[in-house]
Formats: sequence, structure tokens, C-alpha cells
Amino acid sequence: MALPVVLLASPRSFCAGVERAIDIVARLLDQRGGPIHVRKQIVHNTHVVAELEARGAVFVDELDAVPDGATVVFSAHGVSPAVREEAARRGLEVIDATCPLVTKVHAEAKRYAARGDTVVLIGHAGHEEVEGTVGEAPAQTVLVQSVADVEALEVPDPARVSYLTQTTLAVEETADVLAALREKFPALRGPSSADICYATTNRQDAVREVARDSDVVLVVGSRNSSNSVRLVETARRMGTPAHLIDDVSDIRVEWLADARVVGLSAGASAPPRLVDEVIEALGAWDVQVRETARETIQFTLPAAVRRQGQAPG
Ligand code: SF4
Repeated sequence: MALPVVLLASPRSFCAGVERAIDIVARLLDQRGGPIHVRKQIVHNTHVVAELEARGAVFVDELDAVPDGATVVFSAHGVSPAVREEAARRGLEVIDATCPLVTKVHAEAKRYAARGDTVVLIGHAGHEEVEGTVGEAPAQTVLVQSVADVEALEVPDPARVSYLTQTTLAVEETADVLAALREKFPALRGPSSADICYATTNRQDAVREVARDSDVVLVVGSRNSSNSVRLVETARRMGTPAHLIDDVSDIRVEWLADARVVGLSAGASAPPRLVDEVIEALGAWDVQVRETARETIQFTLPAAVRRQGQAPG
């Protein structure tokens, strides 16, 4: 096999929300030592979770696995009010690593529900972010995943419907569902700025650019990472074979057999070093970066973990 050219999508890998969430757990471990309990995976990446576990983080599915009075970190995907209430009832110290862009969607859900609307959430059933958002107004929120779901949807008052989306959806797919909603509910109201976050949109734009000129695309990310899976789908929508890999060991030789140009990206929860390892393993004779956006966004850390002297960002 000839050595391939690698087209490296940019932006790729960690977003500001993921960096903040990992930083919160890492700082807590530095400042207080382990164990530090984290509800759910802090971000959806097996390597990140394993590394923090090795340093003393304890990932639990639900709060009943956290001792009374202990500290618990909420993951980047957010939690429902019911989880916050349980934590308060149990006297747990909560450090919230919910991405501020997920918090924005929660605020919208509350606002729409308060004005009496049916809240249509476009998202994937079972995803932790969706569970948290639905929890803001469970009696008034319905989840739709497809145009077919929209067609089957019945609401108490078609003139009072608002929509929201999960932050990590595929932009094109969501546009179809949204168009179906607008057709069915002409008075549909929604957020003033898109709920699909900047990091998701930027990574999809970049992988599209790379997929256009690649024989195959590899996306580094874990299977439960919504935005990583969407990157694979986005590349495939360009007609290019694409594969999700947790790390370099998942690469199959047959994927690369006839590939002269390999596109490479990584989901927002995948560490940059895993991408470097893939480049090294491919033995690329040339690595060309395709940059479609530059990201400078940073989120402030919660006061409880901020070191003295750190400016609020
Ligand atoms: Fe926040 Fe978007 Fe990153 Fe999710 S993918 S953590 S919403 S910036």
C-alpha cells in the first residue's frame, strides 16, 4: 500500500464545553484528591473516562451510588431538575460541568413551557442531554427524531408549539425535520440562535470539506458520542466511506487498501493525542490541514474549582 496523504479537518477534537468539563474533574482531583464522584461519563469518550478514573474519578450512573454529603460532578450533557432536587435532598455538594450551551437549551425549554407551548425537542432518544432537557418540562415536551415522527405528531394546540434541538445533531438532517415541523405548524416558534452548537456545526463543515477530496474518512470518537457519530454520517452523505474509531487500534487494513487520500477528523469529546497517534500509524507522507473555521471560545470554570488569580474567561 502506498503511503497516503492525510487531509486533516480543522476544527476537530475537543470543544470548549468538553475542555471545561474535563478541567473541572482534573482540578478537583488535584485540589482535593480522589475519590471524586461524577454522574455519568463526564464526556462521551472512553479514553478520557479511563484516564480520569486512573486519577481517582468514580463514574456512577445515578446519585444513589454517591455517599451522603459527598461531592458530585454533573457531566457536560446536563441533568434534569429532578436530579438537582435529589442532590439537594441528599446534601451533596454539586459541581456542575454542564456545558453552558446545553444550559441555554434548558433555559429555552423552561421559557417555552412557561408560556404554555408544547415543546418539540428534536433529538435522539436515550441520550443523556435529551433526558436532561425533557426533564425541564416532561408533561409538555415531546421528542421527535425524524420527519416520520413529525408527521405522526399530535399536539393539544397547533398554534402553540415551540421547538428545540439537541446540541450535537447533524445540521442537514435537522433541517429536514425542522422544515416538516414548520409545514405542519406554521406558527412554530423556536430559539433566536441555533441550538446545534458552534462546535458541532464547525466540525461537520470541516469534515464535509475533507470528505469531498478523500477516498476514505476516519473519525476518532467513541460510539456513544453523538457528535462523533454525526461526523461519520456527514462524511458518508458526501459519498465517501467513513469509519468511527475509538483509537488507532480500531483501524482495519482493508479500509485503507486503495486509499491514496485519507480524511481525518475527531469528535468534540476525543482527545487530540488520539488523532496524532492515527497520523503516526498511517505513516502519511503529507498531512494537509483543511481549516474551515477558527475557534476561540472558552467557558468560565465554576468558582469552586477556579484557582485564585484565574480570570473569569
Ligand atoms: Fe458544549 Fe457543543 Fe461541546 Fe456539547 S459539543 S460540550 S454543546 S460546545
